[in-house]
Amino acid sequence: MDVKAIVGKRVYAFEEGDGKNKKLLGGKGANLCEMTQIGLNVPPGFVITTDACLDYLDSPLRRLPQGLMEEVRGHMRALEEKTGKGFGKPEHPLLVSVRSGSALSMPGMMDTILNLGLNSATLQGEIAETGDPRFAYDAYRRFIQLFGKVALGVPEKLFDRAFEEVKHKAGVVEDVALAATDLQEISERFLRVVEEHTGRPFPDDPFEQLEIAIKAVFNSWTGKRAVDYRAYHHITPEMANGTAVNVVTMVFGNRGNDSATGVAFTRNPATGENKLFGEYLVNAQGEDVVAGIRTPKPIDRLGSEMPGMAPQLEALRQRLETHYQEVQDFEFTIERDILYCLQTRNGKMNATAMVRSSVEMEREGLISREQALLRIQPDMLEQMLFPRLDPLVRAEPIAQGLPASPGAACGIAIFDADRAEQLGRDMGQKVILVREETKPEDIHGFFAAQGILTSRGGKTSHAAVVARGMGKPCVAGAEGISVNVARREAYVGEVAIREGDLITIDGTTGKVYRGQIATVEPDFTPELNTLLGWADEAARLCVMANADTPADARRAVKFGAVGIGLCRTERMFNDPARLPIVIEMIVAESPEERQAALDRLLPMQRADFKELFEVMSPNPVTIRLLDPPIHEFLPDEHQLERELRELHRLGETTRGIAVLSGTLSLIHAPAAQRAEIESMRRLVDPVLVEDAIAKKETMLRKVRALHETNPMLGHRGVRLGISFPEIYRMQIRAILEAAADCAQKGIEVHPQIKVPQVCTAQELKKVKSYVDEVEEEISARYGHPVSFKFGTMIEVVRACMRAESLAQEAEFFSFGTNDLTQATFSFSREDAENKFLPLYNQSGILQDNPFEVLDVKGVGKLMQIAIEWGRKSRPDLHVGICGEHGGHPSSIRFCHEANLDYVSCSAARVPVARLAAAHAALLART
Ligand code: PEP
Ligand code: MG
Repeated sequence: MDVKAIVGKRVYAFEEGDGKNKKLLGGKGANLCEMTQIGLNVPPGFVITTDACLDYLDSPLRRLPQGLMEEVRGHMRALEEKTGKGFGKPEHPLLVSVRSGSALSMPGMMDTILNLGLNSATLQGEIAETGDPRFAYDAYRRFIQLFGKVALGVPEKLFDRAFEEVKHKAGVVEDVALAATDLQEISERFLRVVEEHTGRPFPDDPFEQLEIAIKAVFNSWTGKRAVDYRAYHHITPEMANGTAVNVVTMVFGNRGNDSATGVAFTRNPATGENKLFGEYLVNAQGEDVVAGIRTPKPIDRLGSEMPGMAPQLEALRQRLETHYQEVQDFEFTIERDILYCLQTRNGKMNATAMVRSSVEMEREGLISREQALLRIQPDMLEQMLFPRLDPLVRAEPIAQGLPASPGAACGIAIFDADRAEQLGRDMGQKVILVREETKPEDIHGFFAAQGILTSRGGKTSHAAVVARGMGKPCVAGAEGISVNVARREAYVGEVAIREGDLITIDGTTGKVYRGQIATVEPDFTPELNTLLGWADEAARLCVMANADTPADARRAVKFGAVGIGLCRTERMFNDPARLPIVIEMIVAESPEERQAALDRLLPMQRADFKELFEVMSPNPVTIRLLDPPIHEFLPDEHQLERELRELHRLGETTRGIAVLSGTLSLIHAPAAQRAEIESMRRLVDPVLVEDAIAKKETMLRKVRALHETNPMLGHRGVRLGISFPEIYRMQIRAILEAAADCAQKGIEVHPQIKVPQVCTAQELKKVKSYVDEVEEEISARYGHPVSFKFGTMIEVVRACMRAESLAQEAEFFSFGTNDLTQATFSFSREDAENKFLPLYNQSGILQDNPFEVLDVKGVGKLMQIAIEWGRKSRPDLHVGICGEHGGHPSSIRFCHEANLDYVSCSAARVPVARLAAAHAALLART
């Protein structure tokens, strides 16, 4: 019978309720109906609807809706018929459980009442029927206790006290050692506890018990626990309104050695293996398993202990999976050799198990490829790509920062890059580099460290971007930590972290821990490869990588990127061997001096590009010309001032030593003393010191000259390239020569040059003119044209507005949504995430962090406009995204819908993006 919802009907037998109508029947109730209707052996029962609950709660005196108890009585009669038992009858007494259940699972909203229907008469019936007074009294005392607590509000401790007194009197430590007479005494004491506390005898009439229990469940919806839970989890009435009441025939797993209880997964939730996984206990109740009174046995043993049951359990497993097409986590009870399924829900599994079961269930024909892809949340895959904290270890974090680059790492805290290199690379120690923030000059510390922790900066800070590129864990902007690099220590409140102290960081959650916490290694399985292959077939968007070095590029290829969507060339200057040349280029006083430095950089960049092209061949490599404010490569002004002061002091000292050694020739001094002074003089040559002072002063002058109040909006990107065209020319030459070299060697290459921070087509025209000049010369030299594409970053609001004219110059657009988000909101990408954004998110002013989740309404709207206008002037305009959002699943969904051609993200996010791109395509079809 197809009963969706019948007007006026408030109670549904499990055979008749609509298994999909969770709003009306609650999740548990709907599930019990569905299980019953697919032929599982569920103990008979019925559901009282959430509508009845709402009517009850709305009634001024909290009265049950008229006629409800008559309906309930009718269903109780039906239960009696189905079970052959009688409710309140001493012969074959029918006992039931009463449980709450709303549309959404709300753990702990209300406890379950078990064994309802017991009273002095039915108790005797149970004893007579089972011949087991211990069992009957145990059931009775559990009922009084639960009913007393849940339905009558008797404090639990009163029952506990009475229970302990009897145990003490009986000289028993474990509950299981209590005799039937002890449990009888406990039951009697419990009855007195209830009467003393409520002023009324414990209700003996089973229907009165049932009515009180139903009201108690309804009332629990407005109880503090439930109200707080809904507020905390933002559960609105549209999501869940009112609770249903489930009345279910009791079955007992503690009726002897032919009875048992257990919980199981249809597949192993840790590995995904296609085999029943779980635990059981013979002659026990579910509670015993949960309470840990007895240690349950692995389900494998059930076959030898209850041989008849194993095939039945296996059949149940198959039935569950065939019907739900999903791995199930189910509870069962065996009562006198009859197997009952009490509950089932989708099993929660780790990523490895999800991926394996997806691939295997597809191969078994259980689910389609589409289902195999859609049942896994893309973000979950990160578990398989990075080490993570052992989920079994419980530890309290000492600080919380931003999850800037995923993965967990443990090591000793080291506060500067040189020491990190010394201890990490040279002495093989595991090191966490701890800084206020990082700069390009810290890069060698990154290489040597297991992970990076900073107290300042956001998810797009230098530390975050570089760590992500390298695939190293990073927690950024942990503002609760105050770092004192000079003293090599940090403080979290009163807690000190000194150099050499072990710390653990979790870049997936942003948490920081003291001490060492065990980590679990990642597991890139063959099944993951298969699944991602299916994802690529389903997706329309291509997934490229943001990769700056050949090592990043190799990782990107391994993770399945089909090209490089962004190579930030400034990161190539990070190498400690190159930084001095870059600094020379910056401090150069004339174009000639600058050219000399650039001439030394050219072969290095060319070699880098060649290697990138080779690794990525035949896929495209998109190289962005230099972007950051140039002063980023220079040392800090205050540090320079400090160092200069020290050099001046050293200058005076060396001059003093020179005077002293000269004076010694005039006075009588022992030979040993003279030799010592002489060696000191030779050690610090005043000329060397003067030289160093001159260099530092030039540097300081340059740092001051380049200082900008607002560098992010200052002399960076294409503006720099137009001020110092020789820098861009060198980079363009390096790219095109590398491409020509590769082509000559027969390697297929597709270089793409993109210009950052563009706001007007005039800028693009200017840079294009450099490109054309250089290309012409190289083509002539190599004797063949160099093929490449020329395009622009779109990361400035004006660029979106001028998309039509930009597209006349650019063959492709690459949305830099990090800067575009900053520009659209006027929020600093460096500071917002650890200043006011958390408050904005908590108070609901903004739903998400726009630097993480693409702001579809604002930034997304600009993107849509730019795409539409850009394609107006160039219909085949290729469009992608390379901001951090390119690796974020819901942002990828938007990119799919906005008709982008590709997303580009850090190598580490590539697998997540591949699955998300497939989800986007599949969900767009539905
Ligand atoms: C961007 O702005 O989104 C971008 C990719 O460039 P960067 O993060 O290097 O500024
Ligand atoms: Mg940018």
